[in-house]
Amino acid sequence: MKDPVCGDEVRTPKYRLVFEGKEYFFCSPMCMAEFKKSPAKYKQI
Ligand SMILES: [Zn+2]
Repeated sequence: MKDPVCGDEVRTPKYRLVFEGKEYFFCSPMCMAEFKKSPAKYKQI
């Protein structure tokens, strides 16, 4: 899985978020918070 915010490879999917029916994984709570702030910027089509 790839962190959509920083582009890093996520090996341990600790931080998971479902947005518009899609699953996203993040490397840190900071990246997850950043995604939540502006999901339209980071969401995958
Ligand atoms: Zn990240």
